Amino acid sequence: MSIQKNISLLPYNSFHLDVKAIELETVKTAEQLQKVLHLKEPRLILGGGSNILLTKDVDGLVVKIEIGGINEVKEDATHVYVRAGAGENWHEFVQYTMKRNWGGLENLSLIPGNVGAAPIQNIGAYGVELKDVFYELEAYDRKEKKVYAFGVNDCKFDYRDSIFKSARKGRYIILNVTFILNKNPVLNTHYGAIREELKKMGVHSPTIQDVSKAVIRIRQSKLPDPAVIGNAGSFFKNPVVDQAKFLSLSEKYGDMPAYPHEDKSVKLAAGWLIEQCGWKGYRKGDAGVHDKQALVLVNYGKATGREILELSDKILKSVYDKFGILLEREVNVL
Ligand SMILES: Cc1cc2nc3c(=O)[nH]c(=O)nc-3n(C[C@H](O)[C@H](O)[C@H](O)COP(=O)(O)OP(=O)(O)OC[C@H]3O[C@@H](n4cnc5c(N)ncnc54)[C@H](O)[C@@H]3O)c2cc1C
Repeated sequence: MSIQKNISLLPYNSFHLDVKAIELETVKTAEQLQKVLHLKEPRLILGGGSNILLTKDVDGLVVKIEIGGINEVKEDATHVYVRAGAGENWHEFVQYTMKRNWGGLENLSLIPGNVGAAPIQNIGAYGVELKDVFYELEAYDRKEKKVYAFGVNDCKFDYRDSIFKSARKGRYIILNVTFILNKNPVLNTHYGAIREELKKMGVHSPTIQDVSKAVIRIRQSKLPDPAVIGNAGSFFKNPVVDQAKFLSLSEKYGDMPAYPHEDKSVKLAAGWLIEQCGWKGYRKGDAGVHDKQALVLVNYGKATGREILELSDKILKSVYDKFGILLEREVNVL
């Protein structure tokens, strides 16, 4: 364990926001975590800091989860069950599975952050969500002070959501996650962008490693690299509307992108809605909207979390005024 006092969180959040924490403690094992929790209630549990917007100093303890370890827990004829510590870097873990030719995580390549946060919003990209490869996780219950195992149904995974982000927000600290991966990989290339990228790469019979490379190339060309420009990926969720709302909007906006969702509802593209309101490429001071992807809010340098939050409020209002849709923030605001 290592404790730092009155410390800037700038290196620990992908928006590069310079807020301070009274204390920051890094834990490398579940036992260390429990020891810390025994002494003090943390204000914030931190993974890779790639899905948070820090709007003020943290008036207490921040616990940074660095619990490592990757283990093959069991296997059968077709699958391997792999457990990763919450503090493992997500993309490095994905590459670890690619090297062993275990299929399932290739479409989720290059998502920033750590393994422990991945179930929280059921991370997803290019037609795959964490829930598709999830077996179980272990989490420390801050109320009962015990470790519990959660199966897929316990987690109540949904689009960018789970019990850990909604009904039981803040109650559990995820210690490790076990994935069920395929020894005979089945590719998921139904996303047009992946097929096009594979074509550009000159690949005709792709492997999971090729799909992973294609996803990396697409992401690098479309999304701002947080190492260069502060951001937390998609700031808002794509809204889901019912058929009646969809029909009334599509009569007016014939080119509006829309995708079938569960129970005949329709998912719309938040980035398109924001762009239609004229926000793409907007900048005030150092807070802005990315010029290639309107769904991504950025910190060009010295923006504060408050300024980015205020910008997001203005975007919410203008999308509501124009389309009657209330967007929901995907990023965790603190
Ligand atoms: C450029 C960019 C692209 C992105 N693309 C995608 C994408 O394609 N798909 C997608 O789904 N997301 C995407 N994201 C968002 C982000 O990468 C994911 O949400 C990721 O899972 C966050 O991991 P983290 O470790 O950085 O979490 P953090 O930001 O550290 O934490 C996020 C939340 O989880 C909590 N938390 C963290 N670790 C634990 C734990 N062990 N136990 C309990 N609570 C915990 C925190 O308190 C916080 O509320 C993107 C972000 C960026 C910057």
